[in-house]
Amino acid sequence: MQRKHAVIIGAGPAGLTAAYYFLKHTDIKPIVLEKEKFVGGISRTMNFRGNRMDIGGHRFFSKNEEVLKLWNELLPAQGAPAFDDKLLGRESVLTEGGANPEEVDEVFLNRRRVSRIFYHRKFFSYPISLSLETIRNLGLVEMFSIGISFLKAKFSQREENTLEDFMVNRFGQKLYETFFRDYTTKVWGRSPKEIGADWGSQRIKGLSLGKTILDFFKKTFGFKDGAGETSLIERFFYPKHGPGQLWEKLADDIKKLGGEVLTSTNVKSLHVVDKVVKFVRVESPAGMLTFPADYFLSSMPLAELADALDDGLNLRQLTIARGLPYRDFITVGLLVDKLLLENHTQIKTLGNIVPDCWIYIQEPAVKLGRLQIFNNWSPYMVASPKNSVWLGLEYFCNEGDDLWNMNEEDFIAFAAAELASIGIIKAEDIKLAVRVKVPKAYPAYFDTYENIGELRDALDEIKNLYCIGRNGQHRYNNMDHSMLTAMEAVRAIQSGDSSREKIWNVNAEQSYHEGKDNA
Ligand SMILES: Cc1cc2nc3c(=O)[nH]c(=O)nc-3n(C[C@H](O)[C@H](O)[C@H](O)COP(=O)(O)OP(=O)(O)OC[C@H]3O[C@@H](n4cnc5c(N)ncnc54)[C@H](O)[C@@H]3O)c2cc1C
Repeated sequence: MQRKHAVIIGAGPAGLTAAYYFLKHTDIKPIVLEKEKFVGGISRTMNFRGNRMDIGGHRFFSKNEEVLKLWNELLPAQGAPAFDDKLLGRESVLTEGGANPEEVDEVFLNRRRVSRIFYHRKFFSYPISLSLETIRNLGLVEMFSIGISFLKAKFSQREENTLEDFMVNRFGQKLYETFFRDYTTKVWGRSPKEIGADWGSQRIKGLSLGKTILDFFKKTFGFKDGAGETSLIERFFYPKHGPGQLWEKLADDIKKLGGEVLTSTNVKSLHVVDKVVKFVRVESPAGMLTFPADYFLSSMPLAELADALDDGLNLRQLTIARGLPYRDFITVGLLVDKLLLENHTQIKTLGNIVPDCWIYIQEPAVKLGRLQIFNNWSPYMVASPKNSVWLGLEYFCNEGDDLWNMNEEDFIAFAAAELASIGIIKAEDIKLAVRVKVPKAYPAYFDTYENIGELRDALDEIKNLYCIGRNGQHRYNNMDHSMLTAMEAVRAIQSGDSSREKIWNVNAEQSYHEGKDNA
């Protein structure tokens, strides 16, 4: 019998996981088609003169055993301290028999997460908590006015129609204006007045001023270990050379197992006859090519997939797909000699830089949303980690807006000036600067999203087509969720289950940790 084939659109975490699972668990041969020159999707690592950039800062974090097992199959955990921990005598979490990052590249580091809010040139804990530090930073007058506005909100609860109502009811007008309003607008490009209240209940679960006040008293009067910043510290896994390293390794393994991963291969259309996809047409360095297959798995954005299908959707379903909103993203890599910020924490770092992996920039005067400090993710991301700091300045925008349309030189000058204006660097300390644009970084839940079910039902009727991944499902999937959608799709094909329920159900109920960090 002839071997069956699966065409997989996109070599991000979802597409690569699907290919690997086909090879490991079925006789079906996968061919991954990737439009970019590189694999890893938005979880890639880019290399600029030995300084590696993670597009967004990707913590490897999952509650799913199957995902954790696959990650560990690909890269072993660290068994010896990393360069910075060794030099500084910092504590490391080591796995017996694990790899030594000072000797080999294929290793997962176990890193400490520190991330804080930067507001009025001071650091606040994230999520914002009522601590002596917060009171000191804001001052008694500001705290008093926050308290009064909180009490006012408690006694006159608004009807909750918008995200603003939701937040004001929980935090009071003043705290909402100080920490939530502008940042939410920065991230999503919409005022909380224009976002539904259900967004808040989905994303800000368990956070309220009442709970924060209780925590404060517990910590202050010693009922609970409230060792300041240490209560914020969590750990996460991170490949020595950033997230892309893991996806590059997976692509290599796929090729070794007999699968194909073709980069610079842009899927332009899918030919559908009687609700069955027959082939895809691609633009590639060899010209326009067609790839027939038995199964088609797509992690390309739903809006683009809908337009690429030459049959199977009616005008209403197409309109829903075309109306799905996205938030786009620009990041600027800056290599500097030093930061102007002082490290007042107990955590020792190379060059005594602040220990944060990333910082939420709440300064109202700048458009900058978040600042990554790659040295703290992995010292191996930086060519000279002892005497330079490799930063990622993150901007949230919309494709086609003024930020998006700026040329690279102007954008870098603008970003550097913003960072200097809030006292983080001196412009003359910059040694290297690059800009990276990431379209459709965030699938958003506005506009036609409320009717996405109709689009999904129509796509599910196409018998051999499976929607997987983040933009492939228009869902805030983290890497592990994207991988799980792929695993479920392969299982459905393997078992002959025609239902797509399990694939769409991944991450349908859980709250989204990366998203929560951003709002
Ligand atoms: C700022 C930011 C921070 C994040 N932080 C974390 C984190 O800490 N932890 C975490 O787990 N996740 C995080 N994520 C989420 C993570 O990046 C995604 O979940 C993951 O990359 C999604 O994988 P995917 O394969 O579904 O999609 P993608 O990574 O988007 O990959 C899809 C691929 O399809 C390709 N493609 C698209 N159209 C076509 C076409 N027509 N033809 C061929 N190929 C095509 C694309 O080029 C891309 O390579 C973060 C995301 C962002 C934006």
